[in-house]
Amino acid sequence: MLKDKVALVTGSTGGIGLGIAKALAEKGANIFLNGFGDTAQIQKLKEEISGRWGVRVTYNDADISVPAQVTEMVSQCISELGSVDILVNNAGIQHTAAVEDFPDDVWEKVIATNLSSNFYACKAALPHMRRRNWGRIINVASVHGLVGSASKSAYVAAKHGVVGLTKVIALETARSGITCNAICPGWVLTPLVQKQIDDKAEHQGVSREEARASLLADKQPSLEFATPEQVGGIAVFLSSASADQIRGATFSVDGGWTAQ
Ligand code: NAD
Repeated sequence: MLKDKVALVTGSTGGIGLGIAKALAEKGANIFLNGFGDTAQIQKLKEEISGRWGVRVTYNDADISVPAQVTEMVSQCISELGSVDILVNNAGIQHTAAVEDFPDDVWEKVIATNLSSNFYACKAALPHMRRRNWGRIINVASVHGLVGSASKSAYVAAKHGVVGLTKVIALETARSGITCNAICPGWVLTPLVQKQIDDKAEHQGVSREEARASLLADKQPSLEFATPEQVGGIAVFLSSASADQIRGATFSVDGGWTAQ
């Protein structure tokens, strides 16, 4: 279905991004990986994806909080893999603190990583997509692009910004073969969430299992985590012809979190 397409997935060395990269590779897309991590492990990942699905895989360690590195990453994707057809803006970070205790530099970093990076990547990829009159921009926002939670000011502000940016790009590309949509996951058990579980266990003096159960009970009615594979499935659907007229939409994958 996606044979000969090229997908650039930011933050795809682990977690949700890796789930999305694998789901797109399974459908035949060549993959441009990005993110931080151990060089040997990333090499293994490249070999695993190319070996299993017979696609081309490239990797770049751009820090997406730095605009020039984002622009360069998109150029590299086009020069090495020949295109950028599917852009998945996925990489993101979290920091929790009340507003009055939130460090200024961390605020700037979260906004740069979770929001501004999406703008710079879209800006760099759109001219190429317009020349081909085909493209898919998939922004991994969050339930926190739709609702708030205490102690997550920068993250919630950034993710609401991502949802807004998604709508604007969808309107600016509405008369083209380019679509732009957002996926809004609830809790997905990745290193980003494991850190929050560990912090909760420490602060509340409970076991990790108890912290994990109460994290889910607080917000996610299904009491089950969503998975990177499930988010990957939505990215595949949004890349398909069935989604040609889905524009500026948000897809909740949240076990009922935002239904409450
Ligand atoms: P994760 O921490 O498991 O993985 C994040 C990935 O981003 C890693 O590959 C990491 O190397 C990369 N990364 C981090 N900072 C980067 C930077 N400056 N430049 C390049 N790469 C960078 O996180 P995750 O849980 O997989 O989250 C992925 C996305 O999904 C994020 O945008 C996050 O906000 C969003 N999200 C996650 C959840 C969840 O429950 N896990 C829920 C909703 C939304």
